[in-house]
Amino acid sequence: MARRKLAAGNWKMNGVKAALSEIEALEASFPAPDCDVLICPPATLIFAMAAIGNTVKVGGQDCHANESGAHTGDISAEILADAGATAVIVGHSERRADHGESDADVKAKAEAAWRAGLIAVICVGETEAERDAGKALDIVGGQLAGSVPAGATGANTVIAYEPVWAIGTGKVPTLGDIAEMHDYMRAKLGNSHTSEAENFRFLYGGSVKPSNAAEIFAVSNVDGALVGGASLKASDFGGIIAAASEG
Ligand code: PEP
Repeated sequence: MARRKLAAGNWKMNGVKAALSEIEALEASFPAPDCDVLICPPATLIFAMAAIGNTVKVGGQDCHANESGAHTGDISAEILADAGATAVIVGHSERRADHGESDADVKAKAEAAWRAGLIAVICVGETEAERDAGKALDIVGGQLAGSVPAGATGANTVIAYEPVWAIGTGKVPTLGDIAEMHDYMRAKLGNSHTSEAENFRFLYGGSVKPSNAAEIFAVSNVDGALVGGASLKASDFGGIIAAASEG
């Protein structure tokens, strides 16, 4: 089956109200792109961003597993949904590293996302040392087994493969290495989630730019990208949306 590509942006801890003009520019340039578009801004911008247009869907960058309660500084999937989010990133490597999030934590957050009606964008990826040691497939396989809940479907879950060493570094795996990993991920989830095997979308993330997006989107089992730095400006992200629309 043909899977619709997804161009997803992760603004991380960047973006104030003035940055909403980037979304207005994307809406003007892409009234009806042939791909899905998602931007995950700081939570403070979700409400205003969701009100801007139709093309750019809005997501959170993390959620707590609980619906509400005494968790100062955290945000629940239900609160994100109430603000207008349709998706949430869980298990980004910066969360796994900075906040010690385990696969079990990520799995609980993915289930929380579904509970609130959000798509869970579950991130996995190996470190440079793990790749150098020839362990990349094993590490990612373990993360998939531990982080992707049994109820995952192509409709409620997107998987983002983001090698930690490629995030924000300008380094990108070879197209062959991306293909090997994406083929492996589809086969692996095909074993555990048999009926959904062909439905999951697998994003590649790590130093995607307008200049390399088209060749990455042409790789086997790459169904889009999760983009950090190059998602902040409409001029850059527009090139990635255009490549996703063609690929
Ligand atoms: C990311 O953090 O998800 C990411 C892929 O960042 P960048 O595109 O800047 O490498």
